[in-house]
Amino acid sequence: MNLDNIRIVLVNTSHPGNIGGVARAMKNMGLSRLYLVEPRQYPDEQATWRAATAGDVLERAVVTATLDEAIADCQFVVGTSARSRNIPWPLLDPRACAARMLDASASEQVAVLFGREDRGLTNDELRRCNLHLNIPTSADYSSLNLAMAVQVVCYELRMLLDADRLPSSQDAEWDTPFATRENMERFYAHLEETLMALGFLDPAAPRQLMTRLRRLYSRVRLDEMELNILRGILTETQKFLPRDGRPAAGRGDGEVV
Ligand code: SAH
Repeated sequence: MNLDNIRIVLVNTSHPGNIGGVARAMKNMGLSRLYLVEPRQYPDEQATWRAATAGDVLERAVVTATLDEAIADCQFVVGTSARSRNIPWPLLDPRACAARMLDASASEQVAVLFGREDRGLTNDELRRCNLHLNIPTSADYSSLNLAMAVQVVCYELRMLLDADRLPSSQDAEWDTPFATRENMERFYAHLEETLMALGFLDPAAPRQLMTRLRRLYSRVRLDEMELNILRGILTETQKFLPRDGRPAAGRGDGEVV
């Protein structure tokens, strides 16, 4: 359990005051790693003012141009959302999710993503996550202020850390490191390319195929060895395909691949 391995990632934040409020919420609970993906207005006096004595968290905040940059080295990514989306993803409340994050934080880089004040996280951003986290609210009004949502999540991490107990550790004894986001994205690109060459994925009508495959692999959480095996299978599969990308005729209708 190591809070230094858990980063808070704010995506496209509009109001600098919220960034300051987040820094303060984090510092109160003992978190210090803040990533800002394309903040609209930052640095800004309002951020500094709202941060109060958490100015050091702001000063060390990492600003990135893309979400992928902010989470490239992470093995475990959680996306927060005020409402459910069209494709259901594994969804936990802050308490259950804090246990998973702290467990992973012993040996992995963990990120919690928070969305825009007006629109939250996009479906594409949520698809990059292993788990989704929802803070239970009144059905009438489910959207918390950004800094308050961060506060709730950091508070649950703090409570578990102080209690010094985790329900059950799934990851501690694993023999190979879990795959990073960056390597997972390379795998998805390879998989998509191969499925298109096979004719299994039709770019004109992709439906939700890649989303469903992302969900499948996110649920399992691949380690680096498993990822290499799958990449190897894709590479060998591609060797059966002619250069124009269309499956060759007379090969048992593609059954070989
Ligand atoms: N209207 C947006 C809400 C944005 S609130 C939407 O429908 O998604 C800004 C951010 O605060 C969200 O992207 C999320 O990161 C966090 N947040 C707000 N309410 C939340 C809740 N009930 N559960 C989890 N995260 C929440």
